[in-house]
Amino acid sequence: MPFQLPEQHQLLQATVREFCEREVRPHARAWDEQERFPSELVPKLAALGVLGIRIPEEYGGAGMDTLAYAVVVEECARVDGSLALTVASHNGLGTGHILAFGNEEQKRRYLPRAASGEWLAAWALTEPGSGSDSANLQTTAVRDGSGWRINGTKMFITQGTVGGFCVVLARTNKDEKAQRGITAFIVEHGTPGFNSSKKLEKYGCKSSDTAELSFENVFVGDEQRLGEVDHGFIDTMMILDRGRISIAAMALGLGRGALELATRYAKERVTFGKPIGQHQAIQFMLADGRTQLDAAQLLIHRAARLCDAGQPYSVEASMAKLFASEAATKVCNDAVQIHGGYGYTREFEVERHLRDVKLCEIGEGTSEVQRMVIAKHLLR
Ligand SMILES: Cc1cc2nc3c(=O)[nH]c(=O)nc-3n(C[C@H](O)[C@H](O)[C@H](O)COP(=O)(O)OP(=O)(O)OC[C@H]3O[C@@H](n4cnc5c(N)ncnc54)[C@H](O)[C@@H]3O)c2cc1C
Repeated sequence: MPFQLPEQHQLLQATVREFCEREVRPHARAWDEQERFPSELVPKLAALGVLGIRIPEEYGGAGMDTLAYAVVVEECARVDGSLALTVASHNGLGTGHILAFGNEEQKRRYLPRAASGEWLAAWALTEPGSGSDSANLQTTAVRDGSGWRINGTKMFITQGTVGGFCVVLARTNKDEKAQRGITAFIVEHGTPGFNSSKKLEKYGCKSSDTAELSFENVFVGDEQRLGEVDHGFIDTMMILDRGRISIAAMALGLGRGALELATRYAKERVTFGKPIGQHQAIQFMLADGRTQLDAAQLLIHRAARLCDAGQPYSVEASMAKLFASEAATKVCNDAVQIHGGYGYTREFEVERHLRDVKLCEIGEGTSEVQRMVIAKHLLR
């Protein structure tokens, strides 16, 4: 631990860790193999308070800060990347967008249901033709009487089929410059024309729910509009900044989990008459991993603390995500290496960590996009 967490956060960390060891670790491999979203876990997560980490208590949440959000995601990832992705995206993206930009009525309708797990939140920005250049999205929302008609397709949406509602980014003004003219809407499951058309098969994070969504002439009233008309993309950039802290925390947790497993294995596995942990090549992998992950944690906590203090933190969030995801991917890869042939089998957890952690270099802005954000900040 590079530095001491506040007491309240330490307690939260210990509680989530104990929960994950008891309720998640024994099942994570099976959920992964079955590629099944563990719905039975949702009420337990809600009871633990991790489905409304930052939601104020008056709306049924835990009313905690971004540092707490990072701690929870890290602890979930230490055991199961899929669970961490669910918790990160539910809290940070769908729910976070309503928390930041929703009106009172929207907060009263959606936040208590999100915190109680009655409705999981999805957040739909990415499309089949636009990911990194998300301002180029093609989904449209056109005014129709008292509301809007939404048409389009969204890709890779977490909680796409299991969510109760989805925050959807759609183009509302073709005349504006590419980065403007986008508006956010809340669409509830069951709304005619809104379909989770395809559940995607993935390389990792297999028990998180990822889907393609389609919107065919979906009508929503203006009360479902989230934030100002044509301002959704600017709002989205803010949501992604906080989201990047959580993906960095997810990487850190996966790395920490893999390093713990590799360290244990290095003490047990004997070659050439001694435990492999006595060979310097293995020691160096472990030492580098620990150092890289502690550095990642410092970057994550810096970004979270800046965010909680109301200071600018966009570039710090990008640095945290870039560094943590690349460091953790290396640590998980080394953990498989330390396990030798056994690491390449499903018998040992490290291969799942390696598959899961790769997402952290891609989701919520690839490593290349983070480097673009950091360089832009330097060169402006
Ligand atoms: C499991 C999973 C869950 C996800 N969950 C969600 C979700 O809940 N909601 C949501 O909206 N999206 C979600 N995403 C989408 C994710 O955010 C995008 O996949 C990601 O932003 C990358 O976009 P893309 O896949 O279109 O890649 P592309 O943008 O097509 O990029 C392809 C490659 O080109 C590189 N590249 C692109 N532009 C440049 C450039 N200018 N310079 C240098 N390199 C460049 C990229 O870094 C990448 O290596 C999820 C994705 C996955 C895999």
